Amino acid sequence: MSEEKNNYKSVCTRCEQTKHLIRQAIERLKTAESDVCIKMVAIKIKHKAVYDLMNQVGSRLPEKGGVFVGPVGRDYITEFYFDHSATSTGGTYAPDYLTINRKLHEDWEPAGLEIKGIAHSHPGNLDSLTRADISYIKRLMVNNPNMKTFVAPIVLPHHYAIRPLVVSRDQMNRAQQAYFEIVD
Ligand SMILES: [Zn+2]
Repeated sequence: MSEEKNNYKSVCTRCEQTKHLIRQAIERLKTAESDVCIKMVAIKIKHKAVYDLMNQVGSRLPEKGGVFVGPVGRDYITEFYFDHSATSTGGTYAPDYLTINRKLHEDWEPAGLEIKGIAHSHPGNLDSLTRADISYIKRLMVNNPNMKTFVAPIVLPHHYAIRPLVVSRDQMNRAQQAYFEIVD
């Protein structure tokens, strides 16, 4: 029945329930849309990208992450790439930018895709970007003048939840609350 609707084969690295939990987490995000404030930024994202984020990052211990990509020049995220070779030093997620850059030049750019942001996980209830996160994002945006907004959600594995956040070019010193507009 509805079990077959999203026919993803990947399973949790920790338990078999995750498939169910991912659906719950995504449902929570969808119902949260009715609670949206006019100041919130909409992030249009493919269902599969949210699923992969929760499956890969939500099911692991915190300070893991990966990259969102989508079509060049469009505010639309179509893919999540799990940064499995990243290092988590001193309780922070440090992206493996060498591998990410290689994938960008070899896979994504030739396919008309660009990086839209980075998602990473935090321990406990820490659902906002740290000062270090913000300065990292700011550096990336300064180096990539085409990026108007940087999508930077926080995943809380302990709650199996996502907080969608963005950093805009005109306000690079803080994150803005956003919401996912999930499309199939
Ligand atoms: Zn962080």
